[in-house]
Amino acid sequence: MKQYDVIIIGAGAAGMMCAIEAGKRGRSVLLLEHNRNAGEKIRISGGGRCNFTNLNTSYKNYLSANPKFAISALSQFSPQDFIDLLEYYKITWHEKAKGALFCDEEAWQIIDMLKNEMDRVGVHLRTQTEIVGVEKIADGFNVNWQGRESVQSISASCLVVACGGKSIPKMGATGFGYKIAEQFGLRLTETRAGLVPLTFEPSLKEQMSEISGVSVDVKVTCGKISFDEAMLFTHRGLSGPAILQISSYWREGEELLINLAPDIDVFAKLKEERAKNGKREISTILAQILPKRLAQQIGNQFEGRLADVGDKILQKVGERVNAWRIKPTGSEGYRTAEVTLGGVDTRDINAKTLEAKEIAGLYFIGEAVDVTGWLGGYNFQWAWSSGYSAGQVI
Ligand SMILES: Cc1cc2nc3c(=O)[nH]c(=O)nc-3n(C[C@H](O)[C@H](O)[C@H](O)COP(=O)(O)OP(=O)(O)OC[C@H]3O[C@@H](n4cnc5c(N)ncnc54)[C@H](O)[C@@H]3O)c2cc1C
Repeated sequence: MKQYDVIIIGAGAAGMMCAIEAGKRGRSVLLLEHNRNAGEKIRISGGGRCNFTNLNTSYKNYLSANPKFAISALSQFSPQDFIDLLEYYKITWHEKAKGALFCDEEAWQIIDMLKNEMDRVGVHLRTQTEIVGVEKIADGFNVNWQGRESVQSISASCLVVACGGKSIPKMGATGFGYKIAEQFGLRLTETRAGLVPLTFEPSLKEQMSEISGVSVDVKVTCGKISFDEAMLFTHRGLSGPAILQISSYWREGEELLINLAPDIDVFAKLKEERAKNGKREISTILAQILPKRLAQQIGNQFEGRLADVGDKILQKVGERVNAWRIKPTGSEGYRTAEVTLGGVDTRDINAKTLEAKEIAGLYFIGEAVDVTGWLGGYNFQWAWSSGYSAGQVI
């Protein structure tokens, strides 16, 4: 039976980066993947252009029971380190907004680059491999998978779990990494869908259906955290970057505060316009501030000419625009979530090496760990950084 130095389960961003780094150090590496192809999430990420990192990366852009856990790995492999790799492969990129970097061309360029690096350092990638279990043996780990006729077994001194989270099962997400963590006695923090569209209850959904497809720049707040980004009305509820960002902080039962015109005090503006020309309708003024269909939808609730309504009503209009309070009923869940919040408890992992504190030779990297980034390239950066860090020691 062939024995490897390292077996990595999951050929996503984290697993491939880790395999490359271990291969560079002369380790024999077997990378196992149950999908037909490696890096499926990279391929569809960032609308097909892969938002591969963010120039503003800091531990402050991550959610975790202990966000400072990410500091060590992020400092070992930075956004610039990944940019250097792209530049070596002549993959051109651009900054879209707020430090978010995307490929100029296609996301598959990054997959090709990683596969090329793996080939260069002799990583053995085995796809379409259905793993049935792992076990501890005296000097390492056994990994068992279903072969054509019987269960095959292979062993290694180190086992790296890079199975990602539960989001988008259709693309191969299984939550298998959590099972391995539990099997070896590591704690898990609660997992839930993150970076996900939020849904309305049926009557609100119906009321809002006429503005499905409308996008508006907002400030959305949940508790103490706010994001200034675009928001999209959908036929189920709300989406767009602002909502995806806040969804990671929102809990069922909580209210969102949405400012649909963050740069304008709408009550003050309506009073000012009334003083100038009271014959105009409220909706006419709203249409100067908001997208037309949204202005109409709000205007329908406050019909009338400016001159005919008092301050109380104008204040209500102002609040509807500047402080819309809304209670989503839920989220679209793992079916569409970009990430899984929570995961393997960082208290049980070494921040520098990603090794399980109590099980020598067992490592957890990437999304499987309780470290989840904001929208904007932070999740891939965590995958690269955590994969790189484990790759230095396995
Ligand atoms: C639609 C979408 C768009 C996204 N866009 C971006 C973006 O632009 N920028 C960004 O930073 N982040 C983005 N993300 C998030 C990002 O893709 C993930 O955070 C990142 O891929 C996590 O890397 P990972 O290697 O830990 O896990 P994954 O990339 O999920 O890789 C895990 C691998 O393990 C395999 N696997 C799982 N279970 C098993 C098993 N039992 N046996 C064998 N193999 C298994 C999976 O098939 C997968 O290949 C996006 C996510 C989605 C869903």
